[in-house]
Amino acid sequence: MENNLFVYNTLSREKELFEPFHPPHVGMYVCGPTVYGDAHLGHARPAIAFDLIFRYLKHKGYKVRYVRNITDVGHLENDADEGEDKIAKKARLEQLEPMEVVQHYTNRYHRDMDLLNVLPPSIEPRASGHIIEQIAIIEHILQNGFAYIVNGSVYFDVEKYNRKYPYGILSGRKIEELLSTTRELDKQDEKRNSIDFALWKKADPEHIMRWQSPWSEGFPGWHLECTAMGKKYLGEPFDIHGGGLDLMFPHHECEIAQSKAVNGTSPVRYWLHNNMITIEGQKMGKSLGNFITLEELFSGQHPKLEKAYSPMNIRFFILQAHYRSPLDFSNAALQAAEKGLKKLLEAGNTLQKIPSGNNSTSDIKALITNLYQAMDDDFNSPIAISHLFEAVRIINSVNDGKESLTKEDLGLLKTTYNEFVYNILGLKSETESGQDNNLVEGLMELIIEIRKESRIKKEWATSDLIRDKLSALRIQLKDGKEGTTWNTD
Ligand code: ZN
Repeated sequence: MENNLFVYNTLSREKELFEPFHPPHVGMYVCGPTVYGDAHLGHARPAIAFDLIFRYLKHKGYKVRYVRNITDVGHLENDADEGEDKIAKKARLEQLEPMEVVQHYTNRYHRDMDLLNVLPPSIEPRASGHIIEQIAIIEHILQNGFAYIVNGSVYFDVEKYNRKYPYGILSGRKIEELLSTTRELDKQDEKRNSIDFALWKKADPEHIMRWQSPWSEGFPGWHLECTAMGKKYLGEPFDIHGGGLDLMFPHHECEIAQSKAVNGTSPVRYWLHNNMITIEGQKMGKSLGNFITLEELFSGQHPKLEKAYSPMNIRFFILQAHYRSPLDFSNAALQAAEKGLKKLLEAGNTLQKIPSGNNSTSDIKALITNLYQAMDDDFNSPIAISHLFEAVRIINSVNDGKESLTKEDLGLLKTTYNEFVYNILGLKSETESGQDNNLVEGLMELIIEIRKESRIKKEWATSDLIRDKLSALRIQLKDGKEGTTWNTD
């Protein structure tokens, strides 16, 4: 396997040659959603960024075990150790069981990811399914003296940890600065220090999601789940840990501290972070009126939207920026992406039917080298896309008879173009599902016609067979005055 892939490691702040611990196996963990609401643009970016990375690593021949978790407990409202659990709050407001909230939004998240052509991860573990593992880690941290117990809750002792291992190595934050900028502790606060974080919280009487532990009936702190599930499914240390830049501190910083407090070693080799999406230059937020869910984008039902944008339009828009660059959403930018995507997919169709010639007027091998160089340079999709647009120019020129390609070059271009556009970038023609529908409609018309004929000829065995087989596929036929209609249940 060629090994010329460089990835930017947030930990070293450098591009490093990608050398997995156990090639060809690669372990990749990405922090998934906290499922208490519909997925929005901010969810689409990390999902698509790491989908691109997952797809490219697989293309390079790696066997990737991709773990993306579902946070279903322990993520409190202010992202720290206070406030209500986000899922419990939603459950209280909607009068649902918390796990109903979790299932509902997990299903919707999966639907949105499917529409965006984001491949499912290899394993999708839930925090609430790993309480035992999380308790074991807390016990270990307590044994090593880096945590303390107060009233049934357990907190990580950041200052004590920092005396042995530097705290803040990932985010570049210094503990002195953190101490001076975080608020003073209240008298009733259980923490010794404002920068300490919860490993276990004792549940209030009204708190529904609670488990037995040696310290109290309660629930784990948010940062602990990823430490527990990463270790369980990928071992320690593993290759890649990803997530949004907003998770770097404190979430990922705390993950490093938790692992080192257990066994003194860093849990992850390469830390990768995608940058954020802004909307017309502003952060996205419910209070700013620019909070747009994916469903609203797909339907166009939001005051900020001039029209509906298809899932592939959104995917291509996100891929047109490098994953570490900020990306600003606007109607104009999405409409420009829509045009670019159309050109790329149309050229893909043209490519299948253009003839080869006696000579090549373009250097296809150089074009292919450029494509790989872009992706090997920290998954630089915008540069790769610019080379694909050069391919579009060549394809259209050959189609117009202005340029030509030899049979060999045309073959190479077809293979590479298809691989990059459809497999690595994960783009697809959205009329596909429309064509599928047309096909189904056409086939059903044919079947209904055959059944009608068989009934006229009194061939009851045939008409019964058709009815029974369709029924097994959950397709019901309904005979009416206007003819026979069908529906699925
Ligand atoms: Zn996480």
